[in-house]
Amino acid sequence: MSEPPGHFDTRRFDTRCVHAGQSPEPVTGAITLPVFQTSTYVQDGLGRHRGYEYARLQNPTREACEANIAALEGGRHGVAFSSGLAAIECLAKTVAPGAHIVSEENTYGGTTRMFTQVFDRLGIDVTLVDTRDAGAIRAALRPDTRLIHLESPSNPLMRIADIAAVVELARRHGALICVDSTFASPFNQKPLALGADVVVHSTTKYLAGHSDLLGGILVVDDDALAEDLRFVRKSTGPLPGPLDSWLTLRGTKTLHLRMARHNENGMRIAEFLQSHPAVRAVHYPGLPAHPQHDLARRQMRGFSGMLSAEFSHADAKRLAEGTTLFRLAESLGGVESMICVPAVMTHASVPEAARLRLGITGGLVRLSAGIEDARDLVEDLERALDKP
Ligand SMILES: *Cc1c(COP(=O)(O)O)cnc(C)c1O
Repeated sequence: MSEPPGHFDTRRFDTRCVHAGQSPEPVTGAITLPVFQTSTYVQDGLGRHRGYEYARLQNPTREACEANIAALEGGRHGVAFSSGLAAIECLAKTVAPGAHIVSEENTYGGTTRMFTQVFDRLGIDVTLVDTRDAGAIRAALRPDTRLIHLESPSNPLMRIADIAAVVELARRHGALICVDSTFASPFNQKPLALGADVVVHSTTKYLAGHSDLLGGILVVDDDALAEDLRFVRKSTGPLPGPLDSWLTLRGTKTLHLRMARHNENGMRIAEFLQSHPAVRAVHYPGLPAHPQHDLARRQMRGFSGMLSAEFSHADAKRLAEGTTLFRLAESLGGVESMICVPAVMTHASVPEAARLRLGITGGLVRLSAGIEDARDLVEDLERALDKP
């Protein structure tokens, strides 16, 4: 039922969003792929089935979702998971059991927590470094380093890793390179085209886009790696359900339209904050003032709706509690705007000393610009900031 993987798809990005991985259902002609809400499939005889045995192994709705997102990343294979963290864990268990990983130090808080508080139990050693610095990566590499994990832009500081440069380092060392591209989405950034081996997304965010599910996906080009990932996934079980797969497919149909607005709104809000006297610094790779703006322009097509800004602690609290359109919530990438204070929310699990060293203080506010009218969003922030 699914179409050939993305690698062979010559159609343009916006068309892939709507069509890749999907064709009319063969029995009825239903234009929308059904939710195959089933745990098992009736077999025609012993050892005779139709390619579908059990839902942990195969599900047409999930397979369509995987083919669709693989096509958006320009990769051959998509391997979907029950969450972004499940995807990251499966990759590590598949390629680096009992070995070493070098990771960006400013990742999503849950990723840092898994790397520092769970992987040691699995015998996987992780070294956290500032991946903006090639020298720091090189110094951290060991003979048993199997994976370099980047997150670009990073959460919540919007650091940009030079993906192509790190790819060269990884190649020479014989390590794989994975890029968490959740903040960019495939609309803005294509890590595989820059040479990365694996792209990971928390599909919870921009890909599904409507704040109504958890999901993750790995996209890879290499056939053997894809097969190995699918083997570990079916043997351990962190799969997304059919309805979540279907909702994710529903989401990606409008990814190109949503991202264009997220990009526009992110820029408008960054410019507004940059000009506001209460703001000490704005972190948004689309601003010429961002220290890696040129690199971001080279490897990204747009800069998404994600940004963070530094305030006094009192102003940060007033802003986070005072907006009405920006909802005070963890998560991001939904159609509705969200605001959070990472130090006490998404990154509370990162030890305080590490947080402060990175600059994730109680005054740092993270914003996810939704797809509302930018004028309303700016007014919402203005009102909350200027409240006496
Ligand atoms: C949310 C997020 C994750 C984790 O994904 P879940 O779906 O919540 O498990 C990983 N990386 C980044 C950049 C994220 O924003």
